[in-house]
Amino acid sequence: MANALVWFRNDLRLADQPALAAALAAGQVPVCVYIHEPEEEGDWAPGPAAEAWRHYSLAALDASLRARGSRLRIFRGPSRAVIEALVAACDIEAVYWTRRYEPAIERRDAAIKRALREQGVHAESFNGALLFEPWELATKQGGPYRVFTPFWRAALAHWRAHRLLDAPASIPDLEGDPDGIRLETLRLPPARDPDALLRHGWKPGEAGAHEALELFIEGALHGYRQGRDRPDQVGTSRLSPHLHFGEIAPWRIVAALETQRSAATSADIDAFVRELGWREFACHLLHHFPHTPDADFNPRFDRFEWAPPQRRLLQAWRLGRTGVPIVDAGMRELRESGWMHNRVRMLAASYLCKHLRQHWREGARWFWQHLVDADLASNTLGWQWVAGTGADAAPYFRVFNPVTQAVKFDPEGRYVARWLPELARLPMPARHAPWTAPQLARRLAPDYPARPVVGLEEGREAALAAWRALAASR
Ligand code: FAD
Repeated sequence: MANALVWFRNDLRLADQPALAAALAAGQVPVCVYIHEPEEEGDWAPGPAAEAWRHYSLAALDASLRARGSRLRIFRGPSRAVIEALVAACDIEAVYWTRRYEPAIERRDAAIKRALREQGVHAESFNGALLFEPWELATKQGGPYRVFTPFWRAALAHWRAHRLLDAPASIPDLEGDPDGIRLETLRLPPARDPDALLRHGWKPGEAGAHEALELFIEGALHGYRQGRDRPDQVGTSRLSPHLHFGEIAPWRIVAALETQRSAATSADIDAFVRELGWREFACHLLHHFPHTPDADFNPRFDRFEWAPPQRRLLQAWRLGRTGVPIVDAGMRELRESGWMHNRVRMLAASYLCKHLRQHWREGARWFWQHLVDADLASNTLGWQWVAGTGADAAPYFRVFNPVTQAVKFDPEGRYVARWLPELARLPMPARHAPWTAPQLARRLAPDYPARPVVGLEEGREAALAAWRALAASR
């Protein structure tokens, strides 16, 4: 039998794995490899939280492969050199992988594909991550979409079911070398607390992804439309890191949800699939506007007067010490658990960009380091949306009031009490705005900042003034 390389990247699964399926369908022995080379991702090399996740996900993939007679061989990059060495050493006739859409990776992969083909090696890539790849949907003029609603309308108009592929029952493996290196030598989890993410209930890997999906179907799906905005409840799927690492295909999720469709669930399913649509839209934008992780999507904002970076404000925000409880609770959730609820991501990002007028890039970088689901497309979209600098963004002049939002979406203050135990004794509504009850706060929450680093009214006015200055400068 001939051999083929199956190059695993952010597609750490065996079901719905088109690269693996291609090797098996061609009757080739799949040599399953992962090549670690974060430097190839340039300025956006994965942060520690995502790398810790990757460690456990790679371990899970290796275990699944071994249970089927194969194994994962791990190498250190550069990717192209490793692949070419393996092609020569293992008599490889084809290399298969699923596509990624980060600009630096797209460029690298295109170069590798060209080089392999020039050497007479069959090189083929597949869609493993999206319902629609970034170039599949285009406006009437043939250009990319910049606004979500028409993008999603086009997606629904072109909807088609993807074929589901079960994980192969057995997978042949190459006899003997090359072995690669041990996963542990990559030192991906933080030495200080390697199991932190497992303690927070995360289960990286394909089985964990399917478990999260089942839990969602049994629970939060019912009432998702309202529940998705409630950080004090388990109202969402928490599938984001599983999707980022490709432990489950989005079309598998959609297919599982469709089996649940009824009059009672239909609107919740539609709402959830629409959120998957935002993930698709994020990839669409990143592919067509590859400069946007670092630059404003809307170039008008290049002239916006951000406040100069202020270490004191940035540190308060990063460490959850701004004095605005919902923001601080989110920032603590992020640092401790590697994840933050979407509503709170919006509020924390808004307070940074609007009230503190710190550049959105500062926030995007911090999230990048600390999110287990850190994803260049979704993070860029999320930050530019909140900052008002992005495609189809919330207008800059719409400034969230974090207290009103907290009262609405965390009505009993349970989310805040969970992540800020120093506020747990403060009754509601003071828990969401301790400065409004200073005596109570001094007595019951002495360790929490007495007032916000930038007051809500003051910050809002300064943000609007900066916006008006930009609008007047046209
Ligand atoms: P659910 O509500 O269960 O949604 C299901 C899936 O849909 C998610 O897993 C995710 O893949 C996708 N999705 C949902 N909302 C969005 C959205 N607004 N944009 C893109 N995809 C979405 N998401 C990331 O995956 N990685 C990031 O780095 C990231 N950074 C963000 C930064 C900011 C400032 C903001 C406002 C949002 C960011 N998001 C990011 C989007 C969103 O917050 C998360 O996808 C969501 O909270 C994940 O939780 P969930 O899986 O329980 O979501």
